[in-house]
Amino acid sequence: MKEIKEFKTESKELLNLMINSIYSNKEIFLRELISNASDAIDKYRFLSLSDNANYPALDHFIRLTPNEKKRTLTIEDNGVGMTKDEIETSLGTIAKSGSKEFLEKFKEAKDKKDFNIIGQFGVGFYSAFMVASKVEVLTKSPKDKGYLFVSEGKESYSVEEKEKEGNGTVITLYFKKSTKEEDYDEFYKEYKIKELVKKYSDFVRYPIKMMVETSKPKLDKDGKEIEGKTVTVVEDTTLNSMIPLWKKNKSEVTEADLNEFYKNKFMDYEDPLLSIKLKIEGKVDYDSILYIPSHAPYNLYSDSFEKGLELYSKGIFIKEKCPELIPDYLKFVKGIVDSDAFNLNISREMLQHSPVMKMIAENIEKKIIDRLIETKNNDFEKYVKFWNVFGEHIKYGIYSTYGMKKDLLQNALIFHSLNKEDNGFISLKEYKEAMAKDQKFIYFASGENLDSIKLLPQLEKYKQKGIDVLLLDQKIDEFAIMMLHDYEKIELKSIQDDATNEVSKDEQAKIDEVSANHKKLLDTLKEALTDKVQDVVISSKLVDSPVCISTKEGLSLEMEKTLKEQGENPNEVNSLKVLELNPEHELFEAFTRIEGNDEQVKEFASVLYDEALLLEGHEISNKQEFVKKLNNLIIKAF
Ligand code: ADP
Ligand code: MG
Repeated sequence: MKEIKEFKTESKELLNLMINSIYSNKEIFLRELISNASDAIDKYRFLSLSDNANYPALDHFIRLTPNEKKRTLTIEDNGVGMTKDEIETSLGTIAKSGSKEFLEKFKEAKDKKDFNIIGQFGVGFYSAFMVASKVEVLTKSPKDKGYLFVSEGKESYSVEEKEKEGNGTVITLYFKKSTKEEDYDEFYKEYKIKELVKKYSDFVRYPIKMMVETSKPKLDKDGKEIEGKTVTVVEDTTLNSMIPLWKKNKSEVTEADLNEFYKNKFMDYEDPLLSIKLKIEGKVDYDSILYIPSHAPYNLYSDSFEKGLELYSKGIFIKEKCPELIPDYLKFVKGIVDSDAFNLNISREMLQHSPVMKMIAENIEKKIIDRLIETKNNDFEKYVKFWNVFGEHIKYGIYSTYGMKKDLLQNALIFHSLNKEDNGFISLKEYKEAMAKDQKFIYFASGENLDSIKLLPQLEKYKQKGIDVLLLDQKIDEFAIMMLHDYEKIELKSIQDDATNEVSKDEQAKIDEVSANHKKLLDTLKEALTDKVQDVVISSKLVDSPVCISTKEGLSLEMEKTLKEQGENPNEVNSLKVLELNPEHELFEAFTRIEGNDEQVKEFASVLYDEALLLEGHEISNKQEFVKKLNNLIIKAF
């Protein structure tokens, strides 16, 4: 006997939405129905473990059968099926929180057109009504007779008893009529079905079968191919590849497999620099393949770049770019994550705040950095390749998190070294190990590029004494180092910092003496430069150069420049400068000869300051005045 039943209120609302669906990706209905079939088989196999009598072992399959004449598609599985009660609770009611939440969010959303959750997180069975005007479900549970559920998705559905051979479910979709805007006819075309299975369901773990027409070479009576002649045969074909690369064990997958997969999947012509295959079992289980490309994506630095890993759940595609899985500073990493811990019907908001997601993301971040450090230790050449492309991002990771990721990231850092051949890279660990016993700091110097850094007057003493200095040539460097502060309790210090000096007691005594003897000169210079520098002092840092500029704790000259370039208010980003004089230099001696002649000292004070700026590789502000004074000197000299 046929019973007619009303859908529950919420279901009606959702169905209404589906029928009048405005979404562009209606095609996800197939993913939803295949995923239900796969779940049903999972359930059958689970029950079979404890109740083999009612659930004997079977060869499981999902079968798709399109019918062009009738404009239908059936999706069949030999899973658990549904009892009559289950039809009502599962299909007649929204039982799932995911769909409920979807409905609520939809009602709240202002711009319904932009409301696209459905594309990423299905609303399940009812999505069939986006494409079908009528849906039939013939189902049989081993616990019950067979039943036929029929609905046109409006107010009601019918259920009647119906003979069905074997357990499982056969769903038949009667597609809507195509309109000018919407083409429903492609959904029962072989090519489209194949395409949709590949796109959304390629890694479902049961075979998705379909009778497929293929053309084969025609054979003669001896079984030889007849050239140029083909016959069309219909073959039962499995459309999905079932076991994804990331589900396989490490031992079954070669580097070449991983590279090939990367190039196809992420459309790169070059092999990745590193591939990381993870099979994690612990608090959360997940499989993943992560890639570090050999080159930066062309749009990495543009606003249009979207970070994220591809997300699957139980082999079913959920989302192409899941940004929650990867921190900003690793946005260049590509890859796939598949975890049974996610449910297809979870909404985007729920996914964002999901503790599982957070755990996986943290774990992935750690695995990537571990692998990078391992590469640094075992294949330095490769690491340098990585560093030249993406090193800035690692530094950004330290800077942007205010040093919170210091422990994780500090051993991934490398810097150009003053002492290495061709100023090659050195890690902080290596630097520390090579330090002399009495060296207190890890020194660094920064500037526009290596050549200009190497000309810094302050480097002279370090070169003379053979002390290594990290050469920082990227804008982010000093900002990252500021957050880092120290490496294993050894403070990182700029050699351009006024306090820094590798000075012996004897040297210090000499400086004190010169400073005392020429206090008058220093005071006059300071007075003349009062709007430019905080202090004028005798330096212990210089060998050949007459002058240099150091900065007090806080902003350095480079940082000041960077911030000004970035549009900060120039009055608010001024470093505190100190002019240092080389007491051994002839220029200093010349000034001592005019010590006491305040007018003359003052006139040439600005020349000293400008010289120092130039030596540091910076612009001087009043070029005309500098040139005029220089010319006066030359004229006087000759
Ligand atoms: P979900 O899959 O998240 O539970 P759906 O709306 O996709 O939500 O499906 C609702 C319910 O209908 C399922 O939980 C399941 O109990 C039942 N169902 C749907 N399709 C099948 C099927 N092919 N075989 C058995 N049960 C099914
Ligand atoms: Mg479902």
